[in-house]
Amino acid sequence: MEPILLRARGEDKPRSISTHLRLGGYSAIAKALVMSPEDVIAEVKKAGVRGRGGAGFPAGVKWGFVPKDTSKPKYMICNADESEPGTFKDRELIHVAPHMVIEGIIISSYAIGANTAYIYIRGEFHREAEMLNQAIDEAYRKKYLGKNILKSGFDLDVIVHRGAGAYICGEETALIESIEGKRGQPRLKPPFPAVVGLFGCPTVVNNVETLSCVPHIIERGGEWFAGVGTERSTGPKLFCVSGHVEKPGVVEVPLGTTFREIIEVHCGGVRGGRKLKAFIPGGSSCPILPANLIDTKSDFESVAEAGSMLGSGGVIVMDETVDMVWALENLMRFYSHESCGQCTPCREGSDWALDIVRRINSGHGQPKDLETLERISRYASRGMTICPLGDAFCEPIASFLRHFRAEFEAKIAAGKPVPRRKQPILPVRSSQGLFGQEESV
Ligand code: SF4
Repeated sequence: MEPILLRARGEDKPRSISTHLRLGGYSAIAKALVMSPEDVIAEVKKAGVRGRGGAGFPAGVKWGFVPKDTSKPKYMICNADESEPGTFKDRELIHVAPHMVIEGIIISSYAIGANTAYIYIRGEFHREAEMLNQAIDEAYRKKYLGKNILKSGFDLDVIVHRGAGAYICGEETALIESIEGKRGQPRLKPPFPAVVGLFGCPTVVNNVETLSCVPHIIERGGEWFAGVGTERSTGPKLFCVSGHVEKPGVVEVPLGTTFREIIEVHCGGVRGGRKLKAFIPGGSSCPILPANLIDTKSDFESVAEAGSMLGSGGVIVMDETVDMVWALENLMRFYSHESCGQCTPCREGSDWALDIVRRINSGHGQPKDLETLERISRYASRGMTICPLGDAFCEPIASFLRHFRAEFEAKIAAGKPVPRRKQPILPVRSSQGLFGQEESV
């Protein structure tokens, strides 16, 4: 497949507006601005593009939830808070095609009737925030942003808002809280942001990659987009492949390409000719899959059938040398650190799970530890928490135990019991003082 989203890769100045214009960029805006907003939404629905940030919700359907009969302002937010371990595709898009992202923001803002859009970018992405600001300045100078864009009567301002580096701010309602200047903690839903979002107004939050698909849908038609990929998982998709492969990086393939092709053909196979042990198909919060499922297709349905999720497309490859107890401890350290602390099952459960896995890994596991881990993963997931971080730390626990339980059992069997703590010496309360001397009273 010819690259679509990454077409500017290899260009001399991929980020400049002149390169974007030479490659046909900003022509979709002219097309969209003479359509009615409803027709733009209908075209995106026809394309069937599903959210690329992790949830996989159809973008056109989400836009359709924004009420039309309201006097309140509406907001579009581009979610560039890419913090999931193993995921770095949005950063790549900002590096090679910031104007494509801006073009997608303009068209989607027009479709929902927003005159202000935000790009919420994670705090650590200093350079990428600068790249976006540069591209936005260029777009203002060429009149693709600001008042009366292309003499259509449509106005749009785009603001880059930098977060402070919290994973949970990638969740749309925490992100909204953060833009409002509050602590970035998820809100209870409903109401959903499409109705009550930023500053209490209707708001759509879409991922960078999702928005980058929009200009191509308008330019080449929803039908064309729906013809790429599979029937229910349409379009091209960026997969960021990391871990034990010869050529880690971001690859663009149609949804439905097998993970074998992604790993072996596009990334040069497992590093050093070793054997594949396992892979995580969609970012660290998705269940791990063993090597024998490498022929699974990379579409939403096939990955779910295999027992995992497509998530954000962050493929983490592990070769035969990986110690699975160590790998799970690594993941638990991240999630217990990133829990925002609002819900007891997530706040306490993630810390508790980390303590147990760390103990097993250090050779002091107890026979009952695996049962306790399974209980935690049951009680802190499936709607028991405000946001999906509960599931995000529980799914890895359950899947590591499902596929690699023997490794955990072996470590527990080979380990030593936890050293007993010395009993503290309690002070003697008698006629004697705290330290054994006679009281002077
Ligand atoms: Fe915060 Fe975790 Fe509850 Fe999400 S699930 S709101 S991160 S405590």
